Amino acid sequence: MSSQPLILVVEDNEVNQLLTASVLEREGFTVDLAGDSTQAMERLRERTPELILMDVQLPGMDGLALTRQLKTDPATARITIVALTAHAMTGDREQTLAAGCAGYISKPINTRTFAGEVRAFLPRSVADPAPVRTDARLTGT
Ligand code: MN
Repeated sequence: MSSQPLILVVEDNEVNQLLTASVLEREGFTVDLAGDSTQAMERLRERTPELILMDVQLPGMDGLALTRQLKTDPATARITIVALTAHAMTGDREQTLAAGCAGYISKPINTRTFAGEVRAFLPRSVADPAPVRTDARLTGT
């Protein structure tokens, strides 16, 4: 597994794109950016991310519709998708889960906690790519 997990950020707002990418890159992630569902599909044909951060509100096909589409495609169905939603309203979580998202992160993002929130959705082997530690049982001499 890559030591710099790849995250695809699907977000139409340029300021949010740059902020999200800079926070993630500072934390050691590699970031692909897409501004809409068409660009997202192009990025996904190029390489497969460990996780997709999916803005719910996109021009054209919205983020939940794109999530549903990706979850029905065997090539992308196993990628973890986390919604980015500006609406912290009751029912939003259910909508994102019903579409196939693993969860959601509210916008605006908290730059101090965001990378940790993202990492929590990754398998430990991907989220914590530290070198393998010597087993404690073997070092107790
Ligand atoms: Mn948007």
